[in-house]
Amino acid sequence: MKVLLIEDETELRRSIRQYLQEEGHLVESANDFPSAMEKARLHAYDAMLVDITLPKGNGLDIVRALRKANNACGIIIISAKGSLDDKVLGLDLGADDYLPKPFHLPELVARLRALVRRKQAKAQDSIRVGPLRIVPDERLAEVDGTRVDLTGTEFDLLHFLAVNKGRVLSRSAILEHVWGDLAERMDRDDFLYAHIKNLRRKLAGHGCPESIKTVYGLGYRMSDPA
Ligand code: CA
Repeated sequence: MKVLLIEDETELRRSIRQYLQEEGHLVESANDFPSAMEKARLHAYDAMLVDITLPKGNGLDIVRALRKANNACGIIIISAKGSLDDKVLGLDLGADDYLPKPFHLPELVARLRALVRRKQAKAQDSIRVGPLRIVPDERLAEVDGTRVDLTGTEFDLLHFLAVNKGRVLSRSAILEHVWGDLAERMDRDDFLYAHIKNLRRKLAGHGCPESIKTVYGLGYRMSDPA
């Protein structure tokens, strides 16, 4: 994996770097706040190791800036400060793990591997349609990291359309999947249309205006933007 190591202590930086390289990882490093921010913004990494106390800045500000920019890279804070406050604040800001110094290098590598595995599993469990991301287990729909506020029924409807991305779904298939037996007792077309309309309005409010298409005479289809 490709790792950015942000650490100002020369000897520690050298030993971590060497160890990770021997384990087969690609390592880039930064020794102060500005150079770390520049690398983190310009390049994509699988993981970053972030020291808190840095020349010209604080590592926690790097975590904050990356998450604010929706950078989903794995982040482990490595810090000698060891105070509970830093740990809690770091995790609150969106770091994935915290390893107090001094630590054993094999422990660091084990944490890195676990972190990347978690990230990969999470990415596979989500469905993407253009900028929209749906996480069924969490009943979460988000656009560029911002949650779309949906009712339970709207979420079920969106989920069904999204897992069938690219396919036309008939009105009756949608009604039966989302509402089950209840669907038979409804004024079907108006009912479904009202829900589709609400869902479209909410998605449009998050910058996804055209994601659910009407296929006249057939039903609805979701697809990635052209
Ligand atoms: Ca330091």
